[in-house]
Amino acid sequence: EQQERTALPTIHASLYFKKEIIIILLCVFNQAVDLVVQLSPALKTKPHVVDFGTVFTDHMLTVEWSVTEGWQAPFIRPLANLSLHPACSSLHYGIQLFEGFKVYRGDDSRLRLFRPMLNMSRMANSAKRACLPAFDQTELLECIRRLVEIDQDWVPRSDSASLYIRPTFISTEPSLGVKRPGRALLYVILCQAGSYFNSEADAISLWADPKYTRAWKGGTGDCKMGGLHNSPQNQVLHQRVQENISKKLIFLLFLIISNNVFLFLIEEELATPPLDGIILPGITRRSILELTRKWGEFKVTERYLTMSQLCSALKQQQVKEMFGSGTACMICPIGHIVYLGEVLQDGSTVSFCLHQILTLPSNDIFPVFCYFF
Ligand SMILES: *Cc1c(COP(=O)(O)O)cnc(C)c1O
Repeated sequence: EQQERTALPTIHASLYFKKEIIIILLCVFNQAVDLVVQLSPALKTKPHVVDFGTVFTDHMLTVEWSVTEGWQAPFIRPLANLSLHPACSSLHYGIQLFEGFKVYRGDDSRLRLFRPMLNMSRMANSAKRACLPAFDQTELLECIRRLVEIDQDWVPRSDSASLYIRPTFISTEPSLGVKRPGRALLYVILCQAGSYFNSEADAISLWADPKYTRAWKGGTGDCKMGGLHNSPQNQVLHQRVQENISKKLIFLLFLIISNNVFLFLIEEELATPPLDGIILPGITRRSILELTRKWGEFKVTERYLTMSQLCSALKQQQVKEMFGSGTACMICPIGHIVYLGEVLQDGSTVSFCLHQILTLPSNDIFPVFCYFF
C-alpha cells in the first residue's frame, strides 16, 4: 500500500513529462526586485475588535502565471475583488490551495514572522500536488515581507494579537476540460487576528462521528487545500439540524478541523498522530514537537491514537491535557468530545505543558527560525 501511494504521483508526472519541461523553463518566479507597487489612495480606519478573517488590510499582493508567458511581475495593489472567468477550474474542480501564518510585533516593536519558510515549502508541496506551477519560495517571501511592511500599521501593538497572512494559489484556467492549468493566480491578503492567549481557559468541544472522513490515504490530507475544510462544516451544519446540538459546540467544531491534535497523558507522554499522508503537517505541531523534545522533560511520541483508545484513556482518567494546535489559535484546549452520543470529558484544567507552549511565538523561542523586519 505504501508503494502504491508513492507510485501514483510518479505516474502522473510522467504523463505530463513533455509539458513539464516547458513549464519548468517558465517557472522562474519573477523576482521581488520587479515588484510593482500601487498604493491605495485612501486607507481604511482600523477596527478595534473584529471576528477573525472578516476585515482585511489596505493592500494585497497578486502574481499571475500562464503557461505561455510564465510568471508576471509581482504586484502590490489596493485590496479589490478578483475578476474570474466563470469556467475557471479552481471553482469547478477545486484546483487551489492556501497557506496561513502570522506576523507578530514584539515588545521591541520589531515585526517577526513565525518560521515563514516552512509555510513557503509546504505551499510549494501543495502546488505540486495540485499541478499548479512551481515558484521561487524566497522571492515570494520577500514580496510578502514588502506587503506586510506597507500595511505594517495593521500589526497589533500587542505581544499576543497578530496579523494573519493568507497566501492563496488558484487555477484561473478558463475552460471546463479537466487538465493541468494553463493559467494561475497567486495572491496574498492580510487580516488581523485577535489574542487567543487570554482565553486559554475556554476549552473547546469536539464532535467525532465515524460516518464522516475528512482525509483518506492517497488523498490530499497532507496538503493545505480548501476541500479539506468545507465538507465537514457542511456535514456538521446538517447534523446540527438533525441532532439539535448546541450552537456553541458546532461553532467550536469548525475551529478544530483546522488543527492538529495532541494528548498529554498521565504517564508523562505527549502524543500526536504521525504524518502519514492524512494529517496536515502543521508548523505549530512541528514546533511543539521540536520544543518539547528539546525540553526532554517527558516522552514525546508520534503514534496512532484510535477513538477507542482515547475513550478508555479518558474514562480511566489517564489524560492530563488534550489540545489542538494551529496557527489561527496556536493552542486550543479540548474540553469535551461528543462521540457516538456520548460526551467524553477531558476534565483536567490547563496545566503545565500548555502554559509553556502558549508563549511559543512571542518569546523568540525559535530565534533562528523567525524572520525579522
Ligand atoms: C493549517 C492547518 C493546520 C495547522 O497547521 P499550522 O501550520 O500549525 O497552522 C492543521 N490542520 C489543517 C487541516 C490545516 O489546514
